[in-house]
Amino acid sequence: MADLIDTIVYAGRLKNKVALMSSSSGGVFIALSDFFLENGNAVAAAIYNYDNHTTEFQMILDKKQQERAKGSKYMQSKPGDIYRETYHWLKENPEKKLLFVGMGCQSDGFRKFSEIKGIRDRVYIVDIICHGSPSPKLWREYAKSIERKDGKITYLTFKDKRNGWKFPTAYVMVGGQEYSIRDYVKVFYNRCMLRPSCYECPYATTERKTDITIGDFWHIEETIPDFYDPNGNSLFLIHTNQGGELFEKIKNDLDCRPSNTTQCWQPNLEAPTKKSEQREEFWNDYQKKGIDFVMKKYGTVSMKTKIKNKLLKIMRGVRTK
Ligand SMILES: Cc1cc2nc3c(=O)[nH]c(=O)nc-3n(C[C@H](O)[C@H](O)[C@H](O)COP(=O)(O)OP(=O)(O)OC[C@H]3O[C@@H](n4cnc5c(N)ncnc54)[C@H](O)[C@@H]3O)c2cc1C
Repeated sequence: MADLIDTIVYAGRLKNKVALMSSSSGGVFIALSDFFLENGNAVAAAIYNYDNHTTEFQMILDKKQQERAKGSKYMQSKPGDIYRETYHWLKENPEKKLLFVGMGCQSDGFRKFSEIKGIRDRVYIVDIICHGSPSPKLWREYAKSIERKDGKITYLTFKDKRNGWKFPTAYVMVGGQEYSIRDYVKVFYNRCMLRPSCYECPYATTERKTDITIGDFWHIEETIPDFYDPNGNSLFLIHTNQGGELFEKIKNDLDCRPSNTTQCWQPNLEAPTKKSEQREEFWNDYQKKGIDFVMKKYGTVSMKTKIKNKLLKIMRGVRTK
């Protein structure tokens, strides 16, 4: 049974440097899902669909599908039929277990479902710390606007780590070329386009009922400087004994260090993201003038900020484009 325990905190990252570089944080999704797939079990997680530009939950049964789930997708994902599918899969495979990975709200929903259906002890539930999920419609329109102008998007990343984990590069690939999507990321962070419920998120806390919470270990370079890695740092909050057992199973794939809730503090572990004062204006503009207009108005990085960022990167020895 998954009994709640006092939260145990770890900083950690994958030992495998190639897999670490291709993940958004410390690559712990790979460590967790590898453990399930290698033992013939299943994973349920969100995958990006390049045909309709949505992110939707799917059953993951092999490494190819796992690869497609990797990386943060800055839009709200659709649960689709995942509850039903996981339940049927567990019924058809009575000896097997399943890992569910989703945002706080999605994973807690799955926890409640698993308790009602009597499958809680066969599922391991991981949730992800979340700044908030942007409207999926806005992303779809944004992607389609790029495709109208430039051609089919064949690859997408919001957190490429070529310049290090602290300086992520966001781009799409079109016709073999990279196109920056930093205007979209800027609007994501300026709190205009998140879903209304995200501003009242009850999961913005260290106390949760999933087995493990994962996220970025922000400010680790200050709180545990001798454990900081410029290529990615993950945070684990272990909430149940089942989560503790799972962590022990994947520990060998990780470099990790015990920590505490003071060292790993970040705003979305204390309170939901605050609504931007410009949110209403943003949506009015969008309704009247469309996606390209709002991305230009709210997502343009000023010349002053561009120069400041470039100088900061040069001072820190980071490659700039
Ligand atoms: C919208 C969003 C906001 C975030 N905000 C924060 C934050 O404020 N603080 C913080 O510490 N971390 C945040 N993260 C989490 C962080 O960016 C990493 O995703 C997380 O630490 C896992 O990294 P990883 O290296 O282990 O694995 P990765 O390979 O990078 O992550 C893959 C996992 O994330 C899931 N995933 C990606 N996008 C979505 C989505 N839209 N919906 C559901 N599942 C998704 C994949 O299905 C997979 O399970 C956010 C992630 C997203 C998607």
